[in-house]
Amino acid sequence: MRAEIIAVGSELVSGQSLDTNSQWLSRALGAMGIPVHFHTSLGDDLAENVQVFRIAAGRADVVITSGGLGPTQDDLTREALAAVAGVGLVEDPASLEAIRAMFARRNRVMSERNRVQALFPEGAEPLPNAIGTAPGIGMKVGGCLFFCLPGVPNEMKRMFDEQVAPRLRSSGLATRSIVHRKINMFGKGESEIEAEALDLTARGRVPEVGITASEATISFRIAAEADTEDEANRLIEPTVALIRERFGDLIVGEGAEDVVDALVRELKRTGRSIATAESCTGGLVARLITSVPGVSPHYPGGLVTYSAEAKSNLLDVPEALLKAHTAVSPEVAAEMARRVRERFRTDLGLSVTGIAGPDTDSPDHPVGLVYLGLSTPEETRTRKIELGPEQPRDVIQRRAAKQAINWARLTLRHFEDRPGFD
Ligand code: AMP
Ligand code: MG
Repeated sequence: MRAEIIAVGSELVSGQSLDTNSQWLSRALGAMGIPVHFHTSLGDDLAENVQVFRIAAGRADVVITSGGLGPTQDDLTREALAAVAGVGLVEDPASLEAIRAMFARRNRVMSERNRVQALFPEGAEPLPNAIGTAPGIGMKVGGCLFFCLPGVPNEMKRMFDEQVAPRLRSSGLATRSIVHRKINMFGKGESEIEAEALDLTARGRVPEVGITASEATISFRIAAEADTEDEANRLIEPTVALIRERFGDLIVGEGAEDVVDALVRELKRTGRSIATAESCTGGLVARLITSVPGVSPHYPGGLVTYSAEAKSNLLDVPEALLKAHTAVSPEVAAEMARRVRERFRTDLGLSVTGIAGPDTDSPDHPVGLVYLGLSTPEETRTRKIELGPEQPRDVIQRRAAKQAINWARLTLRHFEDRPGFD
């Protein structure tokens, strides 16, 4: 059993817009136990459409296309499908009536061009469109089942759920349920984590576990297949428990959760508060913290003190200290963290100062050199991190912000058992 997804539209292959339909369709098919083996994207060209449809018909059991069903000259899906099936196009009166009715409901006159949307390859089944004018097409071509859906994402999704999914189930093609879980970690490199997970990522393991990395967040992706969703979830659970036990402190969340969600969780759990003082990250730490809803009782705010003057004027970092050690120093990072904690009267003060590049102010300060400061009423500590020098500015800024947030997260995580630092 293999499925193929075809995305039709010149705007997709030219890079003007992103093909999000294929990703959505792959997930939807995967959840029904239908594995997708190919994604093909192509422009609005009849010969190329015919070629791609023919290849798909020869290698897949189910093909889902999106796009090219509109009324304009560059909408060629119905013609291409008819050519591959070796049949002509015929008008479907019921579809024509539905298109007319749709226009009437919107108080608009149907143009003659829209009539082509009621044309179907002979022997095809029209798939009603509840929210747009373009009906979809269902058709068997040789041994392969084609479903052609509109390109507009809302119409495509609705037609898949209402028309395609029930047909796949009733034809016995969708029998399985595949469930995915994604567990996210921060604080170690991908290879280091993989070295501790060779038993989990071994080929052929059930359930299957893979590792992916995005912006220094490393994720385990677990997939399990079973007859029902409940059963697939039951299969996944012991692996999730094993990962949680083995990687405890590194785990920041599941799904879309990242380091900052874990920090906010710790702030809520411990009832603590934090303030931020940022130099080279220019407010990114503050931006990330405030991206989490409900953080306000724990985050009164922060300061962006980019220049030396701002550090002394807004944070009262002594000028002598800045002169003696420069702004990129553990001494200044510590002072920023302590002062911002006092100024906002929070439990924690977090600071970031460093060189985001591409230029540096001194040979002693390579690009990517960053000092973090973390202050509690008991003590203030600093950390030196080296993120460059080959990394671009935005990567250094994002890494520095995530590392700062992660340090605060880990410190809060162990606040009760060992007040102080991690
Ligand atoms: P079409 O059905 O080809 O006329 O497409 C209508 C509109 O749907 C296009 O202008 C795009 O904005 C959108 N669209 C088409 N294909 C895709 C796709 N694969 N992913 C996301 N949007 C799409
Ligand atoms: Mg198009």
